[in-house]
Parts: sequence; structure tokens; C-alpha cells
Amino acid sequence: MVKVPFVTKEELESVVAEFPTPFHLYDEKGIRETARAVNKAFAWNPGFKEFFAVKATPNPAILRILQEEGCGVDCATDTELVLSKKVGFDGQHISFTSNNTRPEEFVYAREIGATINLDAYEDIAFLEEAAGLPETVSLRYNPGGVFALGTDIMDHPEESKFGMTKAQLLQGYQDLRDKGVKEFGLHAFLASNTVTNAYYPTLAAQLFDLAVEIKETIGVSLSFINLSGGIGIDYKPENRQNDIAVIGEGVHEAFDRILVPNGLGDVTIYTELGRYMLASHGHLVTKVLHLKDTYRHYVGVDASAVNLLRPAMYDAYHHITNISNPDGPLETVDVVGSLCENNDKFAKNRELAQARLGDLLIIHDTGAHGFSMGYNYNGRLRSAEILWQENGKARMIRRAETMEDYFVTLDGFEFEVK
Ligand SMILES: *Cc1c(COP(=O)(O)O)cnc(C)c1O
Repeated sequence: MVKVPFVTKEELESVVAEFPTPFHLYDEKGIRETARAVNKAFAWNPGFKEFFAVKATPNPAILRILQEEGCGVDCATDTELVLSKKVGFDGQHISFTSNNTRPEEFVYAREIGATINLDAYEDIAFLEEAAGLPETVSLRYNPGGVFALGTDIMDHPEESKFGMTKAQLLQGYQDLRDKGVKEFGLHAFLASNTVTNAYYPTLAAQLFDLAVEIKETIGVSLSFINLSGGIGIDYKPENRQNDIAVIGEGVHEAFDRILVPNGLGDVTIYTELGRYMLASHGHLVTKVLHLKDTYRHYVGVDASAVNLLRPAMYDAYHHITNISNPDGPLETVDVVGSLCENNDKFAKNRELAQARLGDLLIIHDTGAHGFSMGYNYNGRLRSAEILWQENGKARMIRRAETMEDYFVTLDGFEFEVK
């Protein structure tokens, strides 16, 4: 599929006239449409809820849009819990899927009534000691081995630090029941950025079988099963796009086949998608500052890996459109930022419409795990975040960092020699 920006050249130029590059731009309409499609795909399950993974795009305006569309949030740290609370989510609509957790984080999660999803068997005792046990507890499963779809190995749970073994899970539910816990959930995240409609249905069938086994062996009937995140998007134009309606139907089929005949037809399904909800609804907008020719042709832009780490960290592909010169002749270039690190490249040996000084480039699919993975190497600053609203107007939803922000933690530490 051809990647088409969600703004036209003229629209983007008007945004850039108001807000200097670089910035992350988010598409409100697209976010709402995806949230509605996810809710529709799982509407067959009465209590279904998507708990958006806050870490993907921790911006209050984005979280409010998702809240309006009926989503909850999933948090991994106390900071994310506080953010969600301040945005106006109540505990019922917050899940807390942490690992290696500090005691005060459990205390706060309990205080606000978030649903706690324990990563480790050992966390049961830790939570009890730190904050006491709530009425509802969810446990995170790690089946070990490899997670495969047919002959395709998707990921290696045995190498993952997350979750607990089946034996620990079974013991855990019994311990929790003995200690008075009333409602139980099951959670697993076995593969990331999957580009196949088979991931969720395959995972669901595995968890549904396990739910039946839990009921039969220890007599615990789960209240909810959380399929977590992991549905990917088509970062590369040649990738097939996932079809959330087909995915929802696949989970429905497994539900009817496995849970319903075993007396577990009232299990609620939850998801914790991050990437699928937001990634394709964000652009990193950047301007060409320098052109350089040595052994390669370099296009130097005003964004760098601090604004989007995925290419440097995972060698991830992000499509790039030269929206100022879309029909220019093709050139093979490296698109680079300004960090003193040679991995600061948004594209390597990429065919791109000729970039000229001042051209605006759109780096696609940066709406999730984009801004949020930002950092401050070389004293580079985090960019602004701008919402491209449904009414066709741009609104800033986070200002850019300033040098004062960067220096503030040095105040009072022999910083400024007078
Ligand atoms: C990161 C994460 C998610 C979201 O993952 P995506 O790949 O963005 O869908 C969901 N749940 C947990 C516990 C996570 O750590």
C-alpha cells in the first residue's frame, strides 16, 4: 500500500508556519476511527475494554480522545498511573501491568483502585506485604519455549523476563483464593508488532485452553482474560495491514469453541494495545537543513534519534515522504539527524524524492513508541506534540522542551559560575 500522509502539503505548511519543526503531529480522526474499529471488533463480548498502553503515547490530549471513545489505560509505573489519574481515568478503567515494581507503586495502584496484574509469582507475597491484596488480581503468564504461528516463530517467551510459569500460575491462583481474593484475571504478551491476523486468535485459544485447565484442576473460574498488546501495523508499504474485524472474529470463534462449552462463557476480554491504536496516526515532521555528499548522499534534518529512537535502536523501518517535492527525481540517500552517533539515521540507502534545502519531510508511523522513547543525548531537546484536529485545525498538546527545562535539575549544584 502507498503511504499517504494524513495532511496535504498546504495543510502542513500552515501548521509549520505556526509551530517550528521538528514536531510530532497526531491525527485525531484516525485515532477515533481505530478506537471505534477495535471496540466494534470485540462488541460481541459484553464487558470488552481496550486499556491503551500509556507508554506508547503518554499525552493527556491523546488519552482524553481515547477515553471519549470508551477506552481505559494500562500503566507500568507510578508516573503513568499519576498521569492517567490526572487525565481523569478512575481506577476501574486503569490497569497496572508492572514488573520489578517498587512497593510504593503497588500502594498507589491500590489507593486509586487500579486492577493489578502481577508479573511474578513472588509478587503475590510482595504485594501483600507492601499494600495488602485487593479483591481482584490478574496474573501474567509466560509459557516459555517459542511462540509460533504454524511454522513461523514469532517470539521467544523463554527469553522474556515477563510473566510466570504455568505451575506458578496455578499455585498463584490457589494462594490468592486462600488469602481471600475474589476475582481473577489472566494476561499474556507473547509477540510484539505482529503483522498477521492470526496472532490474537492463536494467543486467545492458548489462554482459553489454559482457563479451562485452571477451572478443572483448581476450580478457579477466571473473570477476565487480557490479550495485552502486540498487534502491529504496516510500517513498510509492502506489509499487509492487519484487519481488526477479522482478528476480533477469530477471537470470538475461539471463545465460542473453547470457553462457552466449558461454562466460561461470561469471561470478559480485555486488550492493551499501544502500537495498533496510535502508531499510524502520528507523523514526525522535520525540515531539511543540510545536504552532504561523501561516499553517500546525506540528507540532514532538524529531527534526530532523540525524537524517534526506533530506527537507531531496532533498525526499524519508518517510511519517509518528501511532502514538499513529492514528484522530484528519485535519489538514494541516508536521512540523518545531528547526534554524534552514527546510528542517528532515519533511513539508510533509501530511495527518496529529491530533497532540497528547506523541504519538509514526513516520517510516518511515529504515533506510538515515538515521542515517548525520546531522550536528551547531546543536549538535544524533546519536540512539541501537535494534534491535527478533526476540524482541520492544529492544536499544540505539548510544548517543546527548552534549555531551561534541560538545566533545571542542575539548579543549586554549582552549575552557574558567576
Ligand atoms: C508495551 C505493552 C503493551 C503495548 O504493546 P504494543 O506492542 O504497543 O501493542 C501492552 N501491554 C504491556 C504490558 C506492555 O508492556
